[in-house]
Amino acid sequence: MSIIENNIIENNVSENNIIENNVSENNIIENNIIENNIISNNIISNNVFENKDEYKSLFDTKNRIRIRNFLKPEIANDLYDFLQVCNENWWFYSIYYDNERKTIRNDIENYNDIELEREKVYKSVGKGMFSYIFCSTTNHYDTCYCKICEVEKLLQDDEVFGFLNDITNTVIDSPLTTITEVFASRYKANDFLGLHHDKNKGRLAFVLGMTKGWRSDWGGNLIFTKTDMNIIEDVLVPDYNTLDIFYVPDEGTNHYVSNIVPYIDHTRFSITGWMK
Ligand SMILES: [Zn+2]
Repeated sequence: MSIIENNIIENNVSENNIIENNVSENNIIENNIIENNIISNNIISNNVFENKDEYKSLFDTKNRIRIRNFLKPEIANDLYDFLQVCNENWWFYSIYYDNERKTIRNDIENYNDIELEREKVYKSVGKGMFSYIFCSTTNHYDTCYCKICEVEKLLQDDEVFGFLNDITNTVIDSPLTTITEVFASRYKANDFLGLHHDKNKGRLAFVLGMTKGWRSDWGGNLIFTKTDMNIIEDVLVPDYNTLDIFYVPDEGTNHYVSNIVPYIDHTRFSITGWMK
């Protein structure tokens, strides 16, 4: 008897929970409507907007921050899906060694050449010279409607500049107005970007992470160092829908992307660029 009674009571409790949940869901819906009306943010997720003051105080202290769940989920998902399936030959290997930059389209007939270049890149980094090898996209046609171009355009919207200026205006003396350069990047096994400083690229660098299920021991980490490159300040592990921003003063900001371990078939995607 008492067991049955207990069951009934539990059921009542869970029914109450359901009712409570319904109430809070309604609240969320109402909040969304209010926020959309007042703030009318179209691409940045509402949560991120609400925590702007917190990001600002972190940026004031460290001159860099990671903003999680930056884009509205549907925009991030569409971009992520597109990056997984976009044509192999949309990607170009950016290669740098011996003070020279090369770009090689990621076509099957170039695969051999790319691997020969990779050997030279690794010999160069072993000599302590600035070197890199990873894939990026080049500028598409102005009228391109692909998801990469769509997000690149959305990032140039007033909404994003307004938000980022509010966060960075204590550190950066005058408002950011334009994106100076933006591209999608893709790092696979053995890709990396050696230590550099981003001088003259823009005053704010950004990396919109588009990587799921990454492990820090796979490499591909964004690593910040002091002027002495052997003193590491910060390690940012690739993640999904994270916006990493960092200030680039006149003297630059030392950082690199560590090499991805051989043979793994996971890929590190991001949209990267600079604002001035
Ligand atoms: Zn495009």
